[in-house]
Amino acid sequence: MSDVRDLLRPDLRGRSPYGAPQLDVAVRLNTNENSYPPPPEVAAAIGAAVTEAATGLNRYPDRDAVALREDLARYLGHGLTTAQVWAANGSNEILQQLLQAFGGPGRTALGFTPSYSMHPLLASATGTGWRDGGREAGFALGAGHAVTQVRHHRPDVVFLCSPNNPTGTALDPEVVEAVLAESHGLVVVDEAYAEFARPGTPSALRLLPGNPRLVVTRTMSKAFGLAGARLGYLAADPEVVEAVQLVRLPYHLSALTQAAARAALAHTDVLLSDVAAVMRQRDRLVDELSALGLEVAPSDANFVLFGGMADSRAVWRSLVDRGVLIRDVGIPGWLRVTAGTPGEIDVFLSALSEALKEYP
Ligand code: PMP
Repeated sequence: MSDVRDLLRPDLRGRSPYGAPQLDVAVRLNTNENSYPPPPEVAAAIGAAVTEAATGLNRYPDRDAVALREDLARYLGHGLTTAQVWAANGSNEILQQLLQAFGGPGRTALGFTPSYSMHPLLASATGTGWRDGGREAGFALGAGHAVTQVRHHRPDVVFLCSPNNPTGTALDPEVVEAVLAESHGLVVVDEAYAEFARPGTPSALRLLPGNPRLVVTRTMSKAFGLAGARLGYLAADPEVVEAVQLVRLPYHLSALTQAAARAALAHTDVLLSDVAAVMRQRDRLVDELSALGLEVAPSDANFVLFGGMADSRAVWRSLVDRGVLIRDVGIPGWLRVTAGTPGEIDVFLSALSEALKEYP
């Protein structure tokens, strides 16, 4: 009898599944979730919408999720129409569908690490070759560097991430335009954290007219505080939306998910009302971490990357021992912390000061 491990695709053997530790500690600031749960009136509205949808669960859901896409197009603005928007179970599924349709065996995707770690993992899972263009000093990504990498690798898909995870920094819009001009393939701008960007930071959405190879991905997991609902989406040319429908599973988005997301979107203002509080804690983290003598990457997101620790792994462990979970993103000397509530950031900062006494 053959071993299951021998049956596994050779390129998957020996790999570990993606996953930040889900430890049961008091303060969880490791996955860039929103620390503010939906307020009771929104939770009740979502519950009522799900109950209503439950009465029709004998039928498959709307395969094309038209009403939800209409709502998402309205939320995004920029004159977008339903035909330009597509939704799935988290933006991870959106990114996977894009690679299934536009990447695949014999094709390549280019990213600029450190960036969102799922980009290369999804490339690998879809058999797409991964090319790393790297970043410049201080994790910067300028148009010159990006264009040189695109020219060198000639990728079928380019991943840009703005604000970038894990560094937090928003891209200069020039970079997207320069990459679009230089590349022949799909240019995906992952804007999972767009709602936290500092005022005046333009979204790549405004570049969609006249750029049919541009795709902007978004999620309700972060600013909307609905990571548990699993709802991500994209905005692009209608032909991109038609293309991903070739690879999506039929009825991929359950009637419950569609109903929950629509009910949440009807309360957009309430759900986004905590974004300002999160941004204040983000800015506070930048100030206080700098005051502790640490290096801090400028952030337009709901998290901050900080460095200058001789043994960041030991600091991370010492924080866990103090009931605070943040993220070791695999950059030696650096750690990433999510901007939570003021109380959570108080606990984090005092635990960090203690940990740094032990491991300066
Ligand atoms: N893009 C980026 C940059 C992210 O950081 C994340 C979540 N960590 C995602 C996409 C995926 O989020 P979701 O699948 O919850 O929409």
